Amino acid sequence: SLTDRMTSALRNLRGVGKLSEENMADALKEVRTALLSADVHFKVARQFVEDVKAAATGQEVLKSVTPGQQIIKIINDELTKLLGEGSTALKDKKPLRIMMVGLHGAGKTTTSAKLAKRMAKNGYLPALIACDVYRPAAIDQLETLGQREEIPVYTDRDSKDVPKIGRQGLEWAKAQGRDLIIFDTAGRLQIDENLVQEIVKLKKEIQPDEILLVADSALGQEAVNVAQHFHDAVQLTGIVLTKLDGDARGGAALSMKAITNVPIKFMGTGEKIEEFDVFHPDRMAQRILGMGDVVSLVEKAQESIDQDEAQRLAEKMKKADFDLEDFLSQMRQIKKLGSLGGIMKMLPGAHGLEIGDEHEDQLKHTEAMILSMTPYERRNPQIINGSRRKRIAAGSGMDVRDLNQLLKQFGQMRKMMKSMKGSKGRKQMERMAK
Ligand code: GDP
Ligand code: MG
Repeated sequence: SLTDRMTSALRNLRGVGKLSEENMADALKEVRTALLSADVHFKVARQFVEDVKAAATGQEVLKSVTPGQQIIKIINDELTKLLGEGSTALKDKKPLRIMMVGLHGAGKTTTSAKLAKRMAKNGYLPALIACDVYRPAAIDQLETLGQREEIPVYTDRDSKDVPKIGRQGLEWAKAQGRDLIIFDTAGRLQIDENLVQEIVKLKKEIQPDEILLVADSALGQEAVNVAQHFHDAVQLTGIVLTKLDGDARGGAALSMKAITNVPIKFMGTGEKIEEFDVFHPDRMAQRILGMGDVVSLVEKAQESIDQDEAQRLAEKMKKADFDLEDFLSQMRQIKKLGSLGGIMKMLPGAHGLEIGDEHEDQLKHTEAMILSMTPYERRNPQIINGSRRKRIAAGSGMDVRDLNQLLKQFGQMRKMMKSMKGSKGRKQMERMAK
């Protein structure tokens, strides 16, 4: 499967010092395949992979993660960044006029009502204007939604003059003291020049503050054309992605964002009026990458050793004031990693502690003993005398013997650090801290 191939491609990358074009090639090829199978437009997919490659090439592989994890993290981060550029906020003004555009069946009418409901909770007084005049059923649909949600709806069943309906609807809403006016428009199954000209005229007439393209997340390869066409005609201010409750991997989101650079502001997650939220780029990125294993790899990479913390500890080691609190912090990072990782190599004398994959119990015991100490004891291990040892051992369910061994090893480690404070030692420490 794709995931298997991905994983094996990544496994081959283990142990390299720097990310390079060669050692990333397989992983990036798999990513491109994943993007295409999520229906990202092929040009967008190609460009995105190029960008990731440029961002990653030459980066040092973090000590704490495998190169494969690191590439996945970069891919995930870049995708999240790209999808999340721009704000999800609507213009902060009253009255606020919003025009909805998009293909037929994309969810314009439903989203008009969802948005009105949401904004009503934020203190707006919404009104809906029915500008989809070609099918009586479309007007009925908006009216029904309005009645159910107690939102006034302006309709004119005798006219097909959309700009005029828009203007009159606007006056009607103003007269009612409404400060959020949403214009629901018509769509076709494909881009239709006459309809596009109609929304251009409507736009001129009503001067909307926001023009939202409502798009089905399953739009596929045409997403690029649709977004480009509407954007050229009316200058979109936002995209609403609908039907994210469906199966579509949602590559259309990336295609539309990459082509128009218009922010994705909201997402529809069901037919119900409350199934609507601001857009979450992180969730969308994971969905587009679409590989559960890879996502968990990313999470693991993100959870694993915090480089700043490692740096701080290395500084403390240099000064030889590394204490049991620091030791505990080290151990927790090691536990998170699930293996020794690179951090133990930074710890002089740690080999004697024999903490490794196969020593998980020992790790747990050591942690329990340190946790049974008071913070003062952890910072000043030399004060841990006989009666303290008995208390700590009993508190952690261990023998005094085990505690003695831990303290002895820790003492040796500290002594080593101290002896390394000399010039030769410092060089050695610096090499290890890198
Ligand atoms: P319009 O032609 O653009 O106005 O689209 P509609 O608002 O009439 O929606 C078309 C269909 O899609 C309707 O059956 C809606 O209930 C459904 N729909 C809209 N948004 C969503 C969504 O986020 N999830 C799901 N599952 N269905 C949706
Ligand atoms: Mg409609």
